[in-house]
Amino acid sequence: CGVFGVSGVADAANFVALGLHALQHRGQEAGGIVSHDATAGFNSARRMGYVRDNFTKASLMETLPGPLAIGHVRYSTTGAKGTTQLRDVQPFFGEFSMGGAAIAHNGNITNADALRRELIGAGSIFQSASDSECIIHLMARSLQRKVPDRMQDALRRVEGAFSIVAMTRTKLIGVRDPLGVRPLVLGRLDGCGWVLSSETCALDIIGAAFVREIEPGEMVVIENGEVASHRPFAPQKPRFCIFEHVYFSRPDSILGGRSVYETRRAIGVELAREAPVEADLVCPVPDSGTPAAIGYSQESGIPYAMGIIRNQYMGRTFIEPTEQIRNMGVRLKLNVNRALIRGKRVVLVDDSVVRGTTSIKIREMVLDAGAAEVHFRIASPPTAWPCFYGVDTPDRDKLLASSMSEEEMCAHLGVDSLRFISLNGLYRATGEAQGRNNASPQHCDACFSGDYPVIPSDRVAQGFCL
Ligand code: 5GP
Ligand code: SF4
Ligand code: MG
Repeated sequence: CGVFGVSGVADAANFVALGLHALQHRGQEAGGIVSHDATAGFNSARRMGYVRDNFTKASLMETLPGPLAIGHVRYSTTGAKGTTQLRDVQPFFGEFSMGGAAIAHNGNITNADALRRELIGAGSIFQSASDSECIIHLMARSLQRKVPDRMQDALRRVEGAFSIVAMTRTKLIGVRDPLGVRPLVLGRLDGCGWVLSSETCALDIIGAAFVREIEPGEMVVIENGEVASHRPFAPQKPRFCIFEHVYFSRPDSILGGRSVYETRRAIGVELAREAPVEADLVCPVPDSGTPAAIGYSQESGIPYAMGIIRNQYMGRTFIEPTEQIRNMGVRLKLNVNRALIRGKRVVLVDDSVVRGTTSIKIREMVLDAGAAEVHFRIASPPTAWPCFYGVDTPDRDKLLASSMSEEEMCAHLGVDSLRFISLNGLYRATGEAQGRNNASPQHCDACFSGDYPVIPSDRVAQGFCL
């Protein structure tokens, strides 16, 4: 998901709509905005679909007045896929004794089932199927008076990944979990407004200056133009999601002081060193494989070419909810540039192999177009474990790499060769010259290593074996 908030400017909701539009890659199912105005109070609009199809209408935006607003774009990772209902769309809003608050959450709460059972047992009435709603109910039950204190109480009970943007009548609040699994940054607008955003690319769209990242385990409370920083949690060594660098974030964002584009290009360079091959063309599987393909071409000297063309009007394939739509999606979205491919030995660079369905479809299309050889180079290690921290990966048994070796996957995909970047190569590409520190890893990489930095207790209770 993507979260965004603005305070201290007239009609903050308009800025939030633009910010959410720049974060659309983080979630395309639905979006919502809550604003507050001294006379109109809290207002909220939640809609299915793209930001641009909803939050561009003057008639809707007029209902969201005020100098303070937050928003969310949704990508579902909990509950039944493709069955998002309006009631699951964030931000969530609650009324407390000291006034209302709204929250927008990116990440996934790994003890949400247990919390939900406990809260329902104690009388809470849940409105949605979302794990994030627990936070509002925990806040409601806190004995603290002020909303930020209630929120700290609530978040101390929550396990897993959370980057949160929240608001009261007067405050804009940003929090990151102690490991800082998901990103969150602070920006400044025209010297008067403050901005919180999942990624820096959404600061750019509204002309806000990047100030700094919210630190792992930090809570910032912005009121009357001042930013106060709090440390509600016991300090831990951060474990930022390495897959944000590979795939999830936009290449024009800066993560941990590093350009996402540059990291992806460096992954391609590492891949060309680790897994060279004789070939005529390096082609990305667009768009997610593009920077790594550029790096592979630069390092190998094999010409870069657009052998696969992407229809820009489709969303990200894997966000399509069901297996059937996902399968169709590949051809609706990607087409082979036949004239270029015919007779050529082609290196195809993609970001990841999950189920392998995309790769099989692409191999078929490229061979149909007359390619002489197809070599896959993948910008992440084999995805052998599910993510429980906010990226939608299927169950373990659907992950190709959970049951097959690299050779078996190569045979299954029917390509001439298949190579993945090593975990150390990936770490080097993110700027860790020494690679992964196995005693104390610098990132979360659980989907590749099975090393889960937070025990996914709900899943373990359901029988998931670590
Ligand atoms: P596959 O067809 O192997 O299941 O999906 C791989 C494609 O989905 C890749 O091209 C990649 O761009 C996209 N993808 C990236 N990350 C994920 C993820 O975490 N989960 C899923 N299901 N697909 C992803
Ligand atoms: Fe990121 Fe993978 Fe960790 Fe999930 S399991 S947070 S996708 S590195
Ligand atoms: Mg892709």
